[in-house]
Amino acid sequence: MLSYNHSNFTVHQLPALKDNYIYLIEAHASDAMIAIDPAQAVSVRRACRQLGKPLTHILNTHHHWDHTDGNVPLKNDFGCLVIGAAHDAARIPAIDIRVSETSPPLIEGLDIRVIDVTGHTRGHIAYLLDDALFCGDTLFGAGCGRLFEGTHAQMWHSLQQLALLDGATRVYCAHEYTLANLDFAMFVDPHNGALQDRMQQDKAKRQRELPTIPSTIGTEKATNPFLRPLDSSFVTAYAASKGIDADALSVFTHIRQQKDHY
Ligand code: ZN
Ligand code: FE
Repeated sequence: MLSYNHSNFTVHQLPALKDNYIYLIEAHASDAMIAIDPAQAVSVRRACRQLGKPLTHILNTHHHWDHTDGNVPLKNDFGCLVIGAAHDAARIPAIDIRVSETSPPLIEGLDIRVIDVTGHTRGHIAYLLDDALFCGDTLFGAGCGRLFEGTHAQMWHSLQQLALLDGATRVYCAHEYTLANLDFAMFVDPHNGALQDRMQQDKAKRQRELPTIPSTIGTEKATNPFLRPLDSSFVTAYAASKGIDADALSVFTHIRQQKDHY
């Protein structure tokens, strides 16, 4: 189990299923022990046993089974509270507390902000704890989630909200998809030097069976093809090469559609 230290908490990274990450947040100033998107109960149970602390909360980013299947069994084991988006509460198993941007979860010892990131699903939210972003299936390493329920405009708006965060913010997304995403990124943006460097680094990590996640907002802005439309010179060049309108949303939409068939 790899762990990352932040000033008010430690993030433990638990690989689960084929390519999911579950995160366990261990608060420093309280007994709070929070599972983000428990895809399965077994790895969370094992980690809590190792750390010698019971689970107190579950935070869900969205309703998909590979993010919520652990909710009911973990609640049965620990009596923990399940927290999810108020506007998608009907689809979050065993939800106790419904949160939104204006009523974020109150957990002792932690400062938590909720960001609406509709796109992958209708009720998708992200949680920002200090400089740690838990964004589920919205922003991935060099990629973004598929649009199952939202529109391109909604997803582009959501990604822009995340891009506003400080460049040093760690991006804890829910899947290890980075290498496949980088492959597509190179196809979209072949002359990007930062992207070429990232490809080398992340390939080396995977060869040593290390995660490529967390990345940072700064790295994603420089290399993620779905954030590159923030750069107006990229938009101009990309739009001209494809014969499409030279605005960020049109370019984002074109790139997302290409990825769907890549
Ligand atoms: Zn999902
Ligand atoms: Fe997922």
